[in-house]
Amino acid sequence: MHTKTIVDLSSGLKEGAFSSEELVQHFLKRIDQLDPDLNSFITVTGEQALAAAHEADQKIKAGGAGPLTGIPFAHKDIFCTKGVRTSCGSRMLDNFIAPYNAGVTEKMQQAGAIMLGKTNMDEFAMGSSNETSYYGPVKNPWGDNLVPGGSSGGSASAVAARLSPASTGTDTGGSIRQPAALCGITGIKPTYGRVSRYGMIAFASSLDQGGPMARTAEDAALVLQTMAGFDERDSTCVDQPVPDYTASLNDSIQGLKIGLPKEYFGEGLDANVARTIDEAIAEYRKLGAEVVDISLPNSKLAAPAYYVVAPAECSSNLSRMDGVRFGHRCKDPVDLEDLYKRSRGEGFGEEVKRRILIGAYALSAGYYDAYYLKAQQIRRLISDDFKKAFEQVDVIMSPTAPTTAFGLGEKTKDPITMYLSDIYTIAVNLAGLPGMSVPAGFVNELPVGLQIIGNYFDEARLLNVAHQYQQVTDWHTRIPKGFE
Ligand code: GLN
Repeated sequence: MHTKTIVDLSSGLKEGAFSSEELVQHFLKRIDQLDPDLNSFITVTGEQALAAAHEADQKIKAGGAGPLTGIPFAHKDIFCTKGVRTSCGSRMLDNFIAPYNAGVTEKMQQAGAIMLGKTNMDEFAMGSSNETSYYGPVKNPWGDNLVPGGSSGGSASAVAARLSPASTGTDTGGSIRQPAALCGITGIKPTYGRVSRYGMIAFASSLDQGGPMARTAEDAALVLQTMAGFDERDSTCVDQPVPDYTASLNDSIQGLKIGLPKEYFGEGLDANVARTIDEAIAEYRKLGAEVVDISLPNSKLAAPAYYVVAPAECSSNLSRMDGVRFGHRCKDPVDLEDLYKRSRGEGFGEEVKRRILIGAYALSAGYYDAYYLKAQQIRRLISDDFKKAFEQVDVIMSPTAPTTAFGLGEKTKDPITMYLSDIYTIAVNLAGLPGMSVPAGFVNELPVGLQIIGNYFDEARLLNVAHQYQQVTDWHTRIPKGFE
């Protein structure tokens, strides 16, 4: 059952081949057996899942089932889940039981999907390797001591290891796409504003966006269909109808114009990854697509601008974690200042502290213009680059990450090298565009992801372009050894 896609599981449920309860039991058993080593879950909500599955089965019997009714999935532990610990990978929220559901949580629940548990992640979504989690690193099922990528590392690892058919993730600078690439699964970061951020614990509010992680583009389309849509509780959520993402999956891509930005194929890119991406592009040519060389001249400014904007916004967002209202509180504070200092000092990990310090510095009087304002200006230049490119092409393609999965501990000592894992994904968030990662081959038995970037609200096209590729390739069906 665990090798089936959501689409297959959904028809199996409707035909009565198995019940949702059986399905949930099956996945819970796999989590029990295989996750102690992977560490992809922070919390498993078995009892709750079985009760929800029981309800879903009745609904299916009564004929009122939708495509996600009774389908198990996992939530990144950044989405508030009522009555369930929502830790955000941090000691600070280790004891935080969310009193309400996030917009996304609500929608998934209403669609009848069954939450198996909450997945591990980099602390407050800051990281590219899932090594900053208070709950310990996640392992990549494709290799013994390899990172799954981050920050949605638990979500990616769980789907790749077939512990869950799909999961939710969030992407501030690449956190859906990069771990999807490193774990050989399919993930899409929607346009900023497409998916509600209500109840999704904020890292950098102008960049954060939730989205699905699944094995196929078709499954991702089904999940996005449910996740997307207006939510008045998020003032940046866009009130625009959600198209039928599955309706256009089978459209021909004959004549599709693919832009290849030269800046995404240069220095820093592993030669084997480059070759794999070339082969994927060749496959697209065979499908009738036309390839155009383009330039995104301000690309090299994306990472530096991001590492001002993201820390600046996080320093503001994380100020609410003060030991007073919720989360970790130090023992026996002598006064208010001691309470703040020790609660925050104990509750936050090293990477989070580094970002808060950088952000507070960049926002301080005298430096604001030099750093934050400058970064915002660069952001505009980057958006303009994409705008020009989309006058010429329909989608842009590139590698998702410059290398395949790296070793645990390999980059933790040097934050700058770690930050470079996201050089191809970050600009997409700065511009607010949708981006996707699709399994495109292997280098030394490790998965490589192809990134597909689209114009604003062009998710349906991205999913179509990915689905067409998945009809002629089988990279997305490969299962890591030991997880068959
Ligand atoms: N790796 C990037 C960072 O550390 C992006 C993280 C994310 O998208 N949440 O900030």
